[in-house]
Amino acid sequence: MSQDTRFAIVVPCFNEADLIESTSKRLLEVLKDLEQKRLINDSSYIYFVDDGSDDETWYEIAKAVAKHPNNIKGCRFTTNCGNQKALLAGMLQARKVGCDALITIDADLQQDENKIEEFIKKYDEGYKIVFGIRNDRKTDDFIKKTTALAFYKLMEKLGVKIPKNHSDFRLVSKEVLDVLESYKETDLFLRGFFYKIGFRRTNIYFDVKPRKIGKSKFNLVSLTSLAVNGITSFSIVPLKLICVLGFICMVLGFIFGLWALISKFILHTSTDGWAEATILTCFFGGIQIFCIGIVGEYLGQIYREVKHRPRYLIEQELD
Ligand code: UDP
Ligand code: MG
Repeated sequence: MSQDTRFAIVVPCFNEADLIESTSKRLLEVLKDLEQKRLINDSSYIYFVDDGSDDETWYEIAKAVAKHPNNIKGCRFTTNCGNQKALLAGMLQARKVGCDALITIDADLQQDENKIEEFIKKYDEGYKIVFGIRNDRKTDDFIKKTTALAFYKLMEKLGVKIPKNHSDFRLVSKEVLDVLESYKETDLFLRGFFYKIGFRRTNIYFDVKPRKIGKSKFNLVSLTSLAVNGITSFSIVPLKLICVLGFICMVLGFIFGLWALISKFILHTSTDGWAEATILTCFFGGIQIFCIGIVGEYLGQIYREVKHRPRYLIEQELD
């Protein structure tokens, strides 16, 4: 029955000291409201992960935990490991503390916390994963909007199925968390993972709100690295494309070589060929370096994985 559901809200935080108090207050209201509606039980809680902030975030989290020890918990990384690792840690920590289902949401509550009720209702209907899908990208700047769209298109072309405009605002059940726990990859691309593992799933659409305090912690470099990790951990199509490209280049090279031989020995029209040689060298040189780069990305992925290093280091836990 739904009122037996122990629910957790997982919040990754990096330098969000100014937001912790208002975010905890709002999320506690959400929990209370859901409890009164008998959708969740009173042992439900918020789980903050301080992703190695260098401001007062941990102090603020500890203050909130002290004030509401039953309904707020948290842990702190020794250093900044990135939003994906903070989400992962938050989910696994909540699994350890115990919960029937959890939702992940950003500390700035840009994702609409009023929708959490709809997510839980879907869980009650028997869905094990509920994806939050953004209605639009109005709050994103031009670069973020274009790169995000290009990324989803590319992923689709590369055969990685992820819902378009799917964010990390997502509800997952205990069963899904057990599967998550069994995936030991160091660099797990969560958006791809939750789609790949199956389970009964559905979508909820929401509007993204503008950030009230502070600014986005993502820049073009961190977004690109997330995208490259998403591709290299879920698709080997780029490696296969290199093979195809190599084959096409080989055939073209063969035809060109034949043409060079004919024009030199049969037609006697061969010129000094400087321009052709330069163009071909630059063109094929470029392709080769680019392809080595792609292979390098995969090599890097393997390199990171084989070491089996811990994905994050937790310095302190409050639960
Ligand atoms: N975040 C994190 N580690 C990081 C960067 C961000 O835990 O290295 C958290 C951040 O505190 C926020 C969430 O991830 O709760 C989303 O970050 P942000 O709001 O900056 O991203 P945007 O909304 O611009 O995508
Ligand atoms: Mg945000």
